[in-house]
Amino acid sequence: MDKTIQQLLDLSDRIYGLQDARLYDLGDLFYYHQKWLLRYIDDKKNQRLDKSVEKLLVSLAWYFAIISSFGIDLQKMLEIRYSYKCPFCLGIPCDCQKNKKRQSQKTGRPVSGNPKDLINWQKVIGKIYPNESTEFRNLEILRHQDIFHQSFRRFRQASGKKNMHEIEIACVDYFVELLKVANNLEIDLATEFSKFFSNGCFVCHKSPCECFYSE
Ligand SMILES: [Zn+2]
Ligand SMILES: [Zn+2]
Repeated sequence: MDKTIQQLLDLSDRIYGLQDARLYDLGDLFYYHQKWLLRYIDDKKNQRLDKSVEKLLVSLAWYFAIISSFGIDLQKMLEIRYSYKCPFCLGIPCDCQKNKKRQSQKTGRPVSGNPKDLINWQKVIGKIYPNESTEFRNLEILRHQDIFHQSFRRFRQASGKKNMHEIEIACVDYFVELLKVANNLEIDLATEFSKFFSNGCFVCHKSPCECFYSE
Protein backbone atom coordinates (compact mmCIF):
# COMPACT_ATOMS: atom_id res chain seq x y z
CA MET A 1 0.00 0.00 0.00
CA ASP A 2 1.10 3.57 -0.62
CA LYS A 3 2.04 5.82 2.28
CA THR A 4 -0.63 6.71 4.81
CA ILE A 5 -0.93 10.14 6.39
CA GLN A 6 0.16 8.64 9.71
CA GLN A 7 3.37 7.29 8.14
CA LEU A 8 4.22 10.76 6.87
CA LEU A 9 3.44 12.29 10.26
CA ASP A 10 5.68 9.67 11.91
CA LEU A 11 8.52 10.38 9.47
CA SER A 12 8.27 14.10 10.15
CA ASP A 13 8.06 13.48 13.89
CA ARG A 14 11.17 11.23 13.91
CA ILE A 15 13.23 13.95 12.26
CA TYR A 16 11.79 17.11 13.82
CA GLY A 17 9.62 16.14 16.81
CA LEU A 18 12.33 16.44 19.44
CA GLN A 19 13.66 19.76 18.10
CA ASP A 20 10.16 21.16 17.75
CA ALA A 21 9.41 20.37 21.39
CA ARG A 22 12.70 21.87 22.57
CA LEU A 23 12.87 25.00 20.45
CA TYR A 24 9.49 26.19 19.27
CA ASP A 25 6.13 27.25 20.57
CA LEU A 26 2.93 27.12 18.55
CA GLY A 27 3.43 30.65 17.20
CA ASP A 28 6.85 29.62 15.84
CA LEU A 29 5.39 26.58 14.08
CA PHE A 30 2.79 28.74 12.31
CA TYR A 31 5.40 31.35 11.47
CA TYR A 32 7.72 28.81 9.80
CA HIS A 33 4.88 27.03 8.03
CA GLN A 34 3.73 30.32 6.53
CA LYS A 35 7.25 31.45 5.68
CA TRP A 36 7.97 28.31 3.65
CA LEU A 37 4.56 28.51 2.02
CA LEU A 38 5.40 32.03 0.83
CA ARG A 39 8.75 30.78 -0.45
CA TYR A 40 6.90 28.08 -2.37
CA ILE A 41 4.59 30.68 -3.97
CA ASP A 42 7.55 32.90 -4.85
CA ASP A 43 9.44 30.07 -6.56
CA LYS A 44 6.31 28.94 -8.35
CA LYS A 45 5.63 32.44 -9.61
CA ASN A 46 9.17 32.62 -10.96
CA GLN A 47 8.88 29.23 -12.69
CA ARG A 48 11.41 27.52 -10.40
CA LEU A 49 9.32 24.38 -10.34
CA ASP A 50 11.57 21.86 -8.56
CA LYS A 51 12.57 24.41 -5.96
CA SER A 52 8.95 25.36 -5.38
CA VAL A 53 7.97 21.75 -4.66
CA GLU A 54 10.80 21.47 -2.11
CA LYS A 55 9.58 24.59 -0.33
CA LEU A 56 6.06 23.20 -0.25
CA LEU A 57 7.37 19.98 1.35
CA VAL A 58 9.22 21.90 4.06
CA SER A 59 6.09 23.93 4.68
CA LEU A 60 4.13 20.67 4.97
CA ALA A 61 6.59 19.37 7.58
CA TRP A 62 5.87 22.47 9.71
CA TYR A 63 2.14 21.90 9.21
CA PHE A 64 2.61 18.31 10.41
CA ALA A 65 4.39 19.65 13.51
CA ILE A 66 1.25 21.66 14.34
CA ILE A 67 -0.99 18.62 13.73
CA SER A 68 1.23 16.41 15.90
CA SER A 69 1.38 18.88 18.76
CA PHE A 70 -2.43 18.90 18.92
CA GLY A 71 -2.85 15.16 18.34
CA ILE A 72 -5.18 15.65 15.35
CA ASP A 73 -6.34 12.50 13.53
CA LEU A 74 -6.32 13.76 9.93
CA GLN A 75 -7.29 10.41 8.43
CA LYS A 76 -10.39 10.21 10.63
CA MET A 77 -11.34 13.80 9.87
CA LEU A 78 -10.96 13.25 6.11
CA GLU A 79 -13.26 10.24 6.37
CA ILE A 80 -15.85 12.22 8.32
CA ARG A 81 -15.77 15.28 6.09
CA TYR A 82 -14.53 14.47 2.61
CA SER A 83 -15.65 10.96 1.72
CA TYR A 84 -16.51 11.78 -1.87
CA LYS A 85 -18.25 15.08 -1.41
CA CYS A 86 -17.61 18.71 -0.71
CA PRO A 87 -18.77 19.19 2.91
CA PHE A 88 -20.19 22.61 2.04
CA CYS A 89 -22.34 22.05 -1.08
CA LEU A 90 -22.36 18.21 -1.00
CA GLY A 91 -21.43 18.23 -4.67
CA ILE A 92 -18.99 16.23 -6.80
CA PRO A 93 -17.61 18.24 -8.38
CA CYS A 94 -17.99 21.06 -5.88
CA ASP A 95 -20.52 23.73 -6.76
CA CYS A 96 -19.74 26.21 -3.97
CA GLN A 97 -18.89 29.10 -6.32
CA LYS A 98 -22.51 29.19 -7.49
CA ASN A 99 -24.04 28.76 -4.05
CA LYS A 100 -21.87 31.40 -2.38
CA LYS A 101 -22.78 30.39 1.17
CA ARG A 102 -20.04 28.26 2.61
CA GLN A 103 -21.42 26.47 5.61
CA SER A 104 -21.05 22.74 5.97
CA GLN A 105 -24.17 20.57 5.81
CA LYS A 106 -25.08 17.15 7.06
CA THR A 107 -25.40 14.57 4.33
CA GLY A 108 -27.31 11.36 3.82
CA ARG A 109 -25.03 10.55 0.91
CA PRO A 110 -23.37 7.16 1.26
CA VAL A 111 -19.60 7.14 1.59
CA SER A 112 -18.07 6.28 -1.74
CA GLY A 113 -14.45 7.33 -1.30
CA ASN A 114 -12.65 6.35 1.86
CA PRO A 115 -9.01 5.60 1.04
CA LYS A 116 -6.37 4.72 3.61
CA ASP A 117 -3.40 6.19 1.75
CA LEU A 118 -2.62 9.77 0.83
CA ILE A 119 -2.29 9.41 -2.94
CA ASN A 120 -5.85 8.12 -3.16
CA TRP A 121 -7.09 10.95 -0.96
CA GLN A 122 -5.42 13.29 -3.44
CA LYS A 123 -7.46 11.61 -6.19
CA VAL A 124 -10.71 11.93 -4.21
CA ILE A 125 -10.01 15.62 -3.61
CA GLY A 126 -9.19 16.01 -7.33
CA LYS A 127 -12.63 14.65 -8.20
CA ILE A 128 -14.40 16.97 -5.77
CA TYR A 129 -12.30 20.03 -6.72
CA PRO A 130 -11.06 19.80 -10.33
CA ASN A 131 -9.77 22.48 -12.67
CA GLU A 132 -8.51 25.42 -10.68
CA SER A 133 -5.83 27.68 -12.12
CA THR A 134 -2.47 27.80 -10.35
CA GLU A 135 -2.63 31.52 -9.76
CA PHE A 136 -6.08 31.27 -8.20
CA ARG A 137 -4.94 28.36 -6.04
CA ASN A 138 -1.86 30.19 -4.76
CA LEU A 139 -3.96 33.14 -3.65
CA GLU A 140 -6.55 30.84 -2.10
CA ILE A 141 -4.00 28.87 -0.09
CA LEU A 142 -2.91 32.06 1.68
CA ARG A 143 -6.50 32.94 2.55
CA HIS A 144 -7.06 29.44 3.94
CA GLN A 145 -3.76 29.53 5.82
CA ASP A 146 -5.05 32.60 7.60
CA ILE A 147 -8.37 30.91 8.49
CA PHE A 148 -6.42 27.88 9.78
CA HIS A 149 -4.15 30.09 11.90
CA GLN A 150 -7.05 32.16 13.29
CA SER A 151 -8.91 29.09 14.49
CA PHE A 152 -5.92 28.18 16.70
CA ARG A 153 -5.70 31.72 18.04
CA ARG A 154 -9.40 31.64 18.92
CA PHE A 155 -8.90 28.27 20.62
CA ARG A 156 -5.97 29.50 22.71
CA GLN A 157 -7.63 32.79 23.59
CA ALA A 158 -11.08 31.41 24.43
CA SER A 159 -11.87 31.60 28.09
CA GLY A 160 -13.77 28.68 29.51
CA LYS A 161 -14.75 25.77 27.27
CA LYS A 162 -12.49 25.23 24.30
CA ASN A 163 -13.91 23.80 21.10
CA MET A 164 -11.52 21.06 20.00
CA HIS A 165 -13.82 19.98 17.17
CA GLU A 166 -13.47 23.40 15.55
CA ILE A 167 -9.70 22.88 15.53
CA GLU A 168 -10.04 19.43 13.96
CA ILE A 169 -12.24 20.88 11.21
CA ALA A 170 -9.82 23.77 10.60
CA CYS A 171 -6.93 21.28 10.30
CA VAL A 172 -8.61 18.96 7.82
CA ASP A 173 -10.14 21.76 5.71
CA TYR A 174 -6.71 23.33 5.42
CA PHE A 175 -5.07 19.98 4.65
CA VAL A 176 -7.51 19.60 1.74
CA GLU A 177 -6.38 23.02 0.49
CA LEU A 178 -2.78 21.73 0.55
CA LEU A 179 -3.86 18.62 -1.37
CA LYS A 180 -5.46 20.88 -3.99
CA VAL A 181 -2.08 22.63 -4.36
CA ALA A 182 -0.37 19.25 -4.81
CA ASN A 183 -2.95 18.26 -7.43
CA ASN A 184 -2.42 21.54 -9.18
CA LEU A 185 1.33 20.84 -9.30
CA GLU A 186 0.57 17.28 -10.45
CA ILE A 187 2.78 15.75 -7.78
CA ASP A 188 2.29 12.70 -5.58
CA LEU A 189 2.69 14.44 -2.25
CA ALA A 190 3.39 11.31 -0.16
CA THR A 191 6.10 10.04 -2.52
CA GLU A 192 7.75 13.46 -2.84
CA PHE A 193 7.66 13.98 0.93
CA SER A 194 9.17 10.55 1.70
CA LYS A 195 11.86 11.04 -0.94
CA PHE A 196 12.78 14.55 0.21
CA PHE A 197 13.13 13.47 3.85
CA SER A 198 14.57 9.99 3.17
CA ASN A 199 17.99 10.97 4.58
CA GLY A 200 16.60 12.79 7.59
CA CYS A 201 16.56 16.57 7.79
CA PHE A 202 17.00 18.14 4.34
CA VAL A 203 19.65 20.53 5.74
CA CYS A 204 21.76 18.57 8.25
CA HIS A 205 20.75 15.08 7.01
CA LYS A 206 20.39 13.92 10.60
CA SER A 207 17.43 12.20 12.20
CA PRO A 208 16.61 13.68 14.63
CA CYS A 209 17.57 17.02 13.09
CA GLU A 210 20.49 18.89 14.71
CA CYS A 211 20.03 22.23 12.99
CA PHE A 212 18.75 24.30 15.92
CA TYR A 213 17.00 26.32 13.23
CA SER A 214 15.93 29.83 14.08
CA GLU A 215 15.04 32.82 11.94
ZN1 LIG B 1 -18.61 22.76 -2.57
ZN1 LIG C 1 18.51 19.65 10.45
